[in-house]
Amino acid sequence: MKDGENPLRKLPQVQRLLELPAADALAAEFGRAALTHALRETLEALRDSIGAGALAAVPEAQTILESCRERLLARRRPGLRRTINATGIVLHTNLGRAPLAAEAIAAVASIASGYGNLEFDLETGRRGSRTQALEPLLRELSGAEAALAVNNGAAAILLALSALASGGKVIVSRGELVEIGGGFRIPDVIRQGGARLVEVGSTNKTRLADYRAAIDSETRVLLKVHQSNFRMIGFTAEAGIAELAGLARERGLLLVADLGSGLLRPLPGMREPSLGEALAAGADLLTCSGDKLLGGPQAGLILGRKAAVDPLRQHPLLRALRLDKMSLAALESTLMLHRDAPERVPVQRMLAQTEDVLQRRAGQLQALLGGGTVECTQAFAGGGSVPEERIASRALVLEPRIGAEAAASLLRAHDPPVIGRIHEGRLLLDLFTVADEDLPQLAAAVASVLR
Ligand SMILES: *Cc1c(COP(=O)(O)O)cnc(C)c1O
Repeated sequence: MKDGENPLRKLPQVQRLLELPAADALAAEFGRAALTHALRETLEALRDSIGAGALAAVPEAQTILESCRERLLARRRPGLRRTINATGIVLHTNLGRAPLAAEAIAAVASIASGYGNLEFDLETGRRGSRTQALEPLLRELSGAEAALAVNNGAAAILLALSALASGGKVIVSRGELVEIGGGFRIPDVIRQGGARLVEVGSTNKTRLADYRAAIDSETRVLLKVHQSNFRMIGFTAEAGIAELAGLARERGLLLVADLGSGLLRPLPGMREPSLGEALAAGADLLTCSGDKLLGGPQAGLILGRKAAVDPLRQHPLLRALRLDKMSLAALESTLMLHRDAPERVPVQRMLAQTEDVLQRRAGQLQALLGGGTVECTQAFAGGGSVPEERIASRALVLEPRIGAEAAASLLRAHDPPVIGRIHEGRLLLDLFTVADEDLPQLAAAVASVLR
């Protein structure tokens, strides 16, 4: 190609664009330094598009400035944004799991906007423990002798194994050596905790006798892991918490159970064991997440016998895995709601929605849009909790002319972004996870995309 034909040579210089009158307006709105930076990035992007053959000719200077303005506007929007969840998955890990209760949000705002007695004992005027306010609540709600909270569920298991099993062996069923998403694998966590993994049983069947046969003088912990998003059906067997607790006691070991979701009381119609039930069955230590069925902020809860929890308090990892004051405030507030008014916890409220309510909500969206069909769907608790549980829901189903994928992509680009579900080439907006007050914004987003 001769130089004269190379479109890249026609790309204007930053300096020349800055001299245009339209650039003055942009400089006044965004500042000259930001404008210069954005112009460089815009030209860089154009150069890449032309180089890749995606763009045949250099756009007019005016068009370049316009796309520069888009870039400057986008820069003012935060990267982390409130999103409308129309997937029907309540605890969607990629969408931030549990929405917080109004009370928890107020507690966060109050503690974040000033100082607080985070590690200060107001009675004695001395240094206090970070989780001192939380522990009595956790004990009261679960019946545990002792409690502790850390940054997330994964941190809770890592800390528990590091403090209780480092240098020794941990026995786990082969059916429970799961990966929980984002590459969090139980065998890796055991190794990271400085312990050796002893696998027992087979993928589908593990009996108490398998654990018993594997115990030796180096064994410290029997670990039971909730299978999270993974389910075995058919020819299966596992040892329950009560049986394992009996064996642990008999042999002077600890039974640690990673329950995944922190269910404070049995949910009606769901087979998930609650924290209290697992403790009553004899587990020495339980770990679970704060932002799954508990409906709080990201956190990891540790509950159990005092003798099992105390070594965790002394462990140096605790400092690295500790909760920040905003999460602590949200967690304490959520736990108080569980004690006093559990129906105010959004996750609890959502899971209790009736089909009538969902039908009405779907009808409202349909009316706002003047289109789409309302269909019965299934919502999911998500977050690895009760994965097999089917929850009746309603969705507004759209068959956009531009295709479901293209429409979904436009909805993601909307402000606020809307995340739906694609099923067999159709776009489903599941109303289970959409709040009534979000309906007008959801309708506006869909209308703008279907136009
Ligand atoms: C979700 C889950 C975890 C991880 O908890 P995070 O709070 O996401 O770190 C660990 N174990 C099980 C069984 C889980 O379901």
